[in-house]
Amino acid sequence: MGNAAVLSLTNVYARKRPNYLLRVFTIFSALSVVTILLLAGLGIYRIYHNHIISDAENDAVNIGYAIFEQEKDMLISYDSNSNAAIFVADKDFPVLDDRMKKYLHPMNMFKIKFFSKDKKIIYSTDHSIIGKVDDKNTTLSRALKGEVVSKIVKKGSVMDLAGEKRYDVDVVETYFPIIDKKHEIIGSFEVYIDVTRSYQQIKKVLLSSLSVLSIVLLFVFGFLFVLMRRLTDQLSTAQNELENIAVTDGLTKIYNRGHLIVRAEEEFLKTKRLIEKGMVSTFCGLIMFDVDHFKKINDRYGHPVGDEVLKEVSARLRNSLRKYDILGRYGGEEFLVILPNTSFEDTRVVAERIWRTIRERPFVIADLSINVTASMGIACFDGADNDLNHVLKRADDGLYKAKNEGRDMIAWI
Ligand code: GH3
Ligand code: MG
Ligand code: MG
Repeated sequence: MGNAAVLSLTNVYARKRPNYLLRVFTIFSALSVVTILLLAGLGIYRIYHNHIISDAENDAVNIGYAIFEQEKDMLISYDSNSNAAIFVADKDFPVLDDRMKKYLHPMNMFKIKFFSKDKKIIYSTDHSIIGKVDDKNTTLSRALKGEVVSKIVKKGSVMDLAGEKRYDVDVVETYFPIIDKKHEIIGSFEVYIDVTRSYQQIKKVLLSSLSVLSIVLLFVFGFLFVLMRRLTDQLSTAQNELENIAVTDGLTKIYNRGHLIVRAEEEFLKTKRLIEKGMVSTFCGLIMFDVDHFKKINDRYGHPVGDEVLKEVSARLRNSLRKYDILGRYGGEEFLVILPNTSFEDTRVVAERIWRTIRERPFVIADLSINVTASMGIACFDGADNDLNHVLKRADDGLYKAKNEGRDMIAWI
């Protein structure tokens, strides 16, 4: 896998963390809960709203016809051809008015109007409008054609039957035709029914149903969230393990060559950027490390012992570095150390520390005690190089020089 491929794979991992799924789920859940509550609220509201209208309409029609039946003698007059018309004689008015108010009061009705066929108000509990012609009223026109029409309206203020003003009243207005014995439409009623209380009921029903629904949704989505988090946690752990495996050397548990190059490239670019920004005294040191005559160790003690030596080498290297120094296995018995923010001089100091830590104490493996030495080539990037490979080559050349000049030493070119 090339460096670019490793880099882009790292980016994909970074973007597609399982936590991202959890975030998407949380946003989706919140939106779902809001949508469900809105739709349910709207649905409940519509059902109750329609229910209130149809109930009020039924009441209006039934009571209206009953009243009319009761009082039709005072409300209908006949001409010489026995054609009926809505009419109230002056002498009947006080009696009719008195009875109307009595009828309407217990029924939550606070206004009634009788229209003649030509849309004139013949009688109303509101006396001020008697005699007016409501000829622009299309709802009235529909009632005069035989329809029963209801609508709900909010009135800022209305006068009730007792002549008192009431505010913010919800009213169902119902228009329905008056039909005479000959089955002809001779006029229309309009009845106002006060539904303020029923409307307040909607608020209570809405509040209680939506509270119950919210609790249910909270439980459902809460449960799904916990489940989802468990799954994403497991996924995250698996992903982290996979990512670790992808960047780790199986034997020594330090970075493998592929990841080492990715990190070296990152440090190289970072240093370059800082230098370009004017931070002149910025450096990055490199140590190419190789165990001397490792083949002989393998040959003499066997491959498994060789493996243990490599593990111990990487442990000693790690222990002689700072936390943010980068260590990896570059090849079989070859290691690379990247020292961010480290000058050439300091790189040499670190290399010497490593050199001592390897050679001063024998490697104790089972009952064996093995003396190990290593050679190192060091280089430092200080902004003059345009390519990481140039710095790597300098370190490699230094190592070659150290090997050539007798091993167990640090060299540079
Ligand atoms: P030099 O001082 O010139 O570096 O000599 P050397 O013997 O260390 O170098 P050479 O390249 O000749 O041999 C390296 C040996 O390291 C060869 C190879 O079998 C061995 N090797 C590579 N990887 C492993 C490993 O993972 N475990 C073990 N035990 N041996 C390994
Ligand atoms: Mg070697
Ligand atoms: Mg080697």
